[in-house]
Amino acid sequence: MAKFIYLDNAATTPCDPRVVKAMLPFFTEKFGNASSLHQAGRETRSAIDSSRDIVAKFFNVEPEEVIFTGSGTEADMLGVKGILEGVHDRTGKTHVITSAIEHKAVLNLVYDLEKRGFQITVLPVDKYGRISPDDVKKAITGYTALVSIMAANSEIGTTQPIKDIGKICREKGVFFHTDAVQLVGKVKIDLQEDLIDALSLSAHKFHGPKGVGALIVRKNVPLRPQILGGGQEKRRRAATENTPGIVGLAAALQLCEEYLEKPKDKMVLGDYLVERVLKEISGSILNGHPDKRLRTHVNFSFPGVEGESLLLRLDLEGVCASTGSACSAGSLEPSHVLLACGILPELANCSLRLTLSRDTTKKEIDQAIIILKKVVAELREMSVL
Ligand SMILES: *Cc1c(COP(=O)(O)O)cnc(C)c1O
Repeated sequence: MAKFIYLDNAATTPCDPRVVKAMLPFFTEKFGNASSLHQAGRETRSAIDSSRDIVAKFFNVEPEEVIFTGSGTEADMLGVKGILEGVHDRTGKTHVITSAIEHKAVLNLVYDLEKRGFQITVLPVDKYGRISPDDVKKAITGYTALVSIMAANSEIGTTQPIKDIGKICREKGVFFHTDAVQLVGKVKIDLQEDLIDALSLSAHKFHGPKGVGALIVRKNVPLRPQILGGGQEKRRRAATENTPGIVGLAAALQLCEEYLEKPKDKMVLGDYLVERVLKEISGSILNGHPDKRLRTHVNFSFPGVEGESLLLRLDLEGVCASTGSACSAGSLEPSHVLLACGILPELANCSLRLTLSRDTTKKEIDQAIIILKKVVAELREMSVL
């Protein structure tokens, strides 16, 4: 029996042991700097090249369209600020469009860009957290350089009409970046078919190592590097390559392929959790879209039960959950995503996020439901007193 039931896979996932195994030689025997011309360096270079090929194939792009970064956050920075500045340098365009439910990696970045003279439009979402492609269309002006809309939300799991948005951007001659950190590894993404110009991903969200991500960016997209120094990543991201991380990222992605083909089990398990909680815990509300969602991501509100207290009580009982994004946890601020969906702060503060992974078992879900029912009942009783 594991020491806890881990239902916080949107915050991070355990690294797959097969991924760790693929990484290990690159800490010790195969430690060369990929920029070195000797055989130790060439060995590492070749491992990075193969990893890049794997990632490129996965998203149906060319290997040189893959830029490895140090995180999903950094991929977002390069994908949003790097493209905006790249386009601005060439055309003078100053406008970026994004949404109110983006990850803080994008939101705080665009607010900072606004302070420095760029124009931003932060689009609203409907009560399910969906962005309307029509709103995107209306927001595009002659000054718009870039649209950045996340593929799937980390807090409520809602997925976006990415291809429709991509199509609008193509028609208007505007570049389209998507933060796909939560979607990658769960749903097939083809950059060409889905009309995406740039996409961010992070290995630790799909059973890879922490501290490595990638920006996939099409050849025709102007990009201003954000980390200057050596000529690594074709002068688009300086710093000695994190070889173990890159090898791990590619290995983790390759393993996902196997799970993409039969995602049914987990879909059923996530839906099973939703069904049972809605039925067995009175007054519970499912946040996010009822079906345009990641099946692994479940977010409830339990009116009268404060989310932080619920989280702490669940933790004592051995269930790891979240009230929203890990970054805003502990800050007691209601989630910006739930507020953007029009959920009142009182109710947003009563939310609980449970996120599954391919490792989650039915036994764990059954156990978690028993504990959740007990804890919610106890907290409701206390709040009545
Ligand atoms: C986790 C996450 C990020 C940040 O990725 P890191 O590798 O942790 O920096 C960005 N966007 C979304 C949607 C995420 O879930």
